[in-house]
Amino acid sequence: MSAPLQLPPKGESSKQFPLPLGGGREGAVLFDMDGVLFDSMPNHAYAWSHAMTQFGLEMTAYEAYLHEGRTGSGTINILAQRYWGRDATEEEIERIYAAKSEVFNTLPEPKPMPGAIDALNAAKQLGCKIVLVTGSAQTSLLERLEEHYPGCFQEDLMVTGFDVKHGKPHPEPYLMGLQKAGINAEEAIVVENAPLGIESAHKAGIFTIAANTGPLEDYLLKDAGADIVVPGMKEVASLLATMKR
Ligand code: MG
Repeated sequence: MSAPLQLPPKGESSKQFPLPLGGGREGAVLFDMDGVLFDSMPNHAYAWSHAMTQFGLEMTAYEAYLHEGRTGSGTINILAQRYWGRDATEEEIERIYAAKSEVFNTLPEPKPMPGAIDALNAAKQLGCKIVLVTGSAQTSLLERLEEHYPGCFQEDLMVTGFDVKHGKPHPEPYLMGLQKAGINAEEAIVVENAPLGIESAHKAGIFTIAANTGPLEDYLLKDAGADIVVPGMKEVASLLATMKR
């Protein structure tokens, strides 16, 4: 049995949940991708830890979850500073990132996250736009989303690694998501799984539901700025289904 939902205290719902205050405007739910729509984080964490080891940099899979959302070079430099006392050179970054990609590509394709389709349907039921905000920059992204979540995503409502100058935890990705949807922060909800993604959404001023689909402790997501932490996407779907506009 899953853990009970951490619902807001009674009487706080209108303060806690922005959508009931929507006043007829459309609203939007902004979804992160890795660890939210796809169960891809175990692959990323495995690939990072195995690639780093080849270069004498020890990174546990757990730590990879902490860095989720950071750019590849940012993650590599944290380890380079720790073990080498300096930033990695461009060439080292390229080699390490290539090694990570090589390991990653040997792993089976990540499956859709259980409950994600229900959360997307619940967002549609609310009459909300569905926006994708990911640091990922895969050209096959739209086809994969269309294959697993047909009709849910459209290209003009997607923010990817190609669009932004600053990645998460900078607020730019989520601010751009709001802009693309043509709505204000108070009319939106973010669904995230990673501390840096939560920080990005929180700094953009958006109510953030954290789906804790990985091994990190709930308090890390709460401390990053999550308004509410639930155990997974099924619970996100239940939560969205309880909201009214
Ligand atoms: Mg994520």
